[in-house]
Amino acid sequence: MTYQELWQTVLAQIQLNISPANFATWFANTKIVSQEEGTVFVSVPNSFAKEWLEQKYNKEILRILRALDGSIKEINYRIDFPAAKAKEPQKTPEHQELPAEQLGFAELEVDKETNLNPRYNFQNFIVGPFNELAYAAAEAIVKDPGKVYNPLFIYGGVGLGKTHLLQAVGNELSKRNPPCKVKYIPSDKLISTIVNSIRNHSIDELKVNLRKVDVLIVDDVQFFAGKEKTQEEFFHAFNDLYQRSKQIILSSDRPPKAIPAITERLKSRFEGGMVADVSLPDYETRLAILKQKAVEKNADVQIKILEYIAANIQKNVREIESALNRLLVFQKINNKTPNFEEAKKLLRNVIVSPSKFTNPTKILQAISEFYDLEDKTLFCSSRKKEFVKPRQLAMYLLRKELSFSFPAIGRKFGGKDHTTVMHACHLIDRELQDNDKFSQEVELILQKIYTLDA
Ligand code: ADP
Ligand code: MG
Repeated sequence: MTYQELWQTVLAQIQLNISPANFATWFANTKIVSQEEGTVFVSVPNSFAKEWLEQKYNKEILRILRALDGSIKEINYRIDFPAAKAKEPQKTPEHQELPAEQLGFAELEVDKETNLNPRYNFQNFIVGPFNELAYAAAEAIVKDPGKVYNPLFIYGGVGLGKTHLLQAVGNELSKRNPPCKVKYIPSDKLISTIVNSIRNHSIDELKVNLRKVDVLIVDDVQFFAGKEKTQEEFFHAFNDLYQRSKQIILSSDRPPKAIPAITERLKSRFEGGMVADVSLPDYETRLAILKQKAVEKNADVQIKILEYIAANIQKNVREIESALNRLLVFQKINNKTPNFEEAKKLLRNVIVSPSKFTNPTKILQAISEFYDLEDKTLFCSSRKKEFVKPRQLAMYLLRKELSFSFPAIGRKFGGKDHTTVMHACHLIDRELQDNDKFSQEVELILQKIYTLDA
């Protein structure tokens, strides 16, 4: 077997078990260059691929090689084309302390030149299985901008850290010595700038300005959809930067292919470098992010509460953060940290995503199902306890979740007086505070309400 055949066999097997994006990233331009006394020398294109293969894939590669040739004992990864010597980016000290006024909610100042917000950095970015590919690519770019992955295209759902990661790269690169000239532009801003420049006949000026950057970061390029003029201008700017090995970093809420109304030539540019996704963080990572944010915001929150948030908010890191902010508001107003019950109460509407649609039918249905009642029972006027409580809860939730007026709720329940409804809501409110078991029930009902099919 030639080296090439040997390596091809390894690659063929590896490929079966990893995603195409990962495969292309770590195994492109790798080959076996020699074999001496049980050691196989594999050439890799950069230090980054070296690290990654050594740490993540070595065992698997070795296993495959040994099955083919029992005399192989170890693998040595060598960098074939040493990357241009770039200075290591200066790292800010870990656990950097923020001035007291900035703790909590104040945003750090956005740099006027780069548009970067210094609060987004690598030190406070938590890496987990859901974002490690994007993170790894970002780190590679910091080491060697314009060379390894150009463009880097990161996609994923809302609130999953795309902007954070993009800006972290920008911040690192603009801090290096000599600094890279970085420009971060949200795509809607770029669109309006282009439209205005065309209107004011200053498009040439804009072009000159864009040409000056070393690193261009455009966030949320899905908004380019249907914006033909912007696409055209951006296409030219892209080519110009790309040809001069300037780094381009893009983000979107979906992969290039799935962006509608965007020209093929631009799409193929987007896909021409590295495309990496960020997906949903797992529980451990969510908890790690929360701990990190709590430290950053100087929030003294019980670990039990952090766990509760991490367990219940699963789809969006931004929502995780806003849950924490809600607790901080409480802390500021009341001058004490919330206890578990208070926290749960504060977080009710964050935990069951308020953005999700609900309606009276769903609320009534969820309550009936939960208490195993027939549909109409909620509206009967029986004073039996097992009916009264669910009925009061239904009133309470119509008020709380849908902001129904008290008289409107009264009418819905067979013409009851609005004071009766107010009283019911008050009783439930108190019960929720006093009765742990009941508030858990309500939590479950709320979850049901927001997960029922339309
Ligand atoms: P996106 O751009 O994907 O919508 P953002 O980058 O704006 O999301 O992230 C939303 C919030 O969540 C930000 O405050 C960001 O700092 C935080 N965040 C997201 N992912 C992470 C992470 N992996 N580590 C730390 N914070 C994160
Ligand atoms: Mg964003």
